[in-house]
Amino acid sequence: MLFMEFSKSCEKLEGISGRLEMIDLISTVLPNLAPEELPIFVRFVMGRIFPDWSAQKLGIGPNLLNEAIGYVAGIKKEQVIEKINQTGDVGQAVEELLMEKSMTTFFHEELDLVRVYHELVGIAEMEGKKSQREKILAVRRLLGNAHPLEGRYLARIMLEELRIGVGEGSVREAIAKAFSVESTLVEHAMQALNDSGEVARLAKIGPDALIDVHITPFHPVRMMLAQQGAISDMIAEHGQIAAEYKYDGSRFQFHKKGNWARMYSRRLEDVTGALPDVIEQLLGSTDHDVILDGEVIAIKDGKPMPFQSVLRRFRRRHDVAEATVAIELVPNVFDILWLDGETLIDLPLTERRKKLESFVKMFIAPQVVSSDAAVIENVYADAIAAGHEGIMIKVPASPYSPGQRGKNWIKIKPEVDTLDLAVIGAEWGEGKRAHAFGSFLVACQDEGKLIPLSRVATGFSDEQLAEVYGLLKDTVIAKSGKEVTFEPSLVFEVGYAELQASTNYNGGFALRFPRFIRIRDDKDLPDIETLESIRDRYKRQANSAQAYKA
Ligand code: AMP
Repeated sequence: MLFMEFSKSCEKLEGISGRLEMIDLISTVLPNLAPEELPIFVRFVMGRIFPDWSAQKLGIGPNLLNEAIGYVAGIKKEQVIEKINQTGDVGQAVEELLMEKSMTTFFHEELDLVRVYHELVGIAEMEGKKSQREKILAVRRLLGNAHPLEGRYLARIMLEELRIGVGEGSVREAIAKAFSVESTLVEHAMQALNDSGEVARLAKIGPDALIDVHITPFHPVRMMLAQQGAISDMIAEHGQIAAEYKYDGSRFQFHKKGNWARMYSRRLEDVTGALPDVIEQLLGSTDHDVILDGEVIAIKDGKPMPFQSVLRRFRRRHDVAEATVAIELVPNVFDILWLDGETLIDLPLTERRKKLESFVKMFIAPQVVSSDAAVIENVYADAIAAGHEGIMIKVPASPYSPGQRGKNWIKIKPEVDTLDLAVIGAEWGEGKRAHAFGSFLVACQDEGKLIPLSRVATGFSDEQLAEVYGLLKDTVIAKSGKEVTFEPSLVFEVGYAELQASTNYNGGFALRFPRFIRIRDDKDLPDIETLESIRDRYKRQANSAQAYKA
């Protein structure tokens, strides 16, 4: 396929807003493509160059692209930027610039789809000191041979922003229609392969090729996700359910073949280099070839630390060895997607779990299966007491659905906590709330003294703000700029996500995400929270890994 034909398809698609029409159009193009063209067309039309499992990047930012465009159009980079600002779109800017230029140029080498793809792969693979220069030269070569319309889509593809509105769903339906295969088969193959392009190639071969898809080690699969729900509903619907701790760390997917292993993050980035200790632990946990799904948590003095500590390790590029000593990471494996060449995602959880327990020796997250709500509630209580986030409930008969946030995995976490606190000060509101107080300083008590703890500015309706203003306006005892101080009388119930150690307030604590819940007119100042009880809460919370400061 010529790149010009591809560009014309894009132009048509750009003019269509209806999804069905888009699907129709794509489905008429696909059957005419050669097997090696199909994956490229499908990815390009979604504005992607590489398969979704691939971490490969083209490595061309707007700066580099603008420089190359300037060269080809015979103008300065600044003028290119001006043109882009004028048109609001790099594609249109390139098209217009190439149009002006083509008045003076007569020679073009014809670009075809496969060649463009290979050139782009070549650009992505350029590494080292001189790579920036080489990349610019390669982009110049491509744009130099492009007709204006081709330039429009080439530039957008290079920035991976095609903006013609073709998403994965439309591509799935178009593949199904083009090759007369079931769309559920296409979807399933997409989940296993994580590459719509390759799925199109298989669909052309026939339904059997789609049925026979296998996960490929080192091509990460999207993670299955969870919804919120309730234990009682899950038992009512499924009878027996499986409960596991919900670890507050970072999701991982571990791929191992022989002694070669890689680790991928929730966003499917390759994080192997940052986590040599975890890789080693998992390599030692099995002699088999596997793909495992799990959550890494950080441990200090035997207790889980909050997920920020884990994230810090995931992002580490330098001094990894030092970091492994400072923050100990432990994997918790809760699923297996592939074992010794066999794809397991369609097996029920119960079967996958059996394989996991038989073939992996360590780091398996404990699981309790029961239809008794009291048993599951106990797992939940144990999880919180041991410092975890809550529990995950899973349907024993369910397959592993990559990328899906369905009802087969349900998360159960505690509600946010609340504190009753005295209102000791406020700041005047702004805009339409300028006639009332907008943000409030709230305090706990310590041996008869009021200790400021937090500011609360969210969670109020206009009516509540008016009511609070009415109650407080005659209690102002001092003013300073926009700030006022009250003779304390009113108690607020304040919700928060987390208690944090802080030097901002004398008590040594601050609230994360404080939110007004309601006025506690049933409470007086002696009833408000004490600093001591807040310290206790903080300790409990540190135990439950939610507020520990690394
Ligand atoms: P959330 O991020 O709140 O939507 O919760 C889902 C996340 O919980 C998953 O993506 C995992 O990172 C994490 N998680 C922790 N423990 C488990 C578990 N036992 N099973 C599945 N996911 C878990």
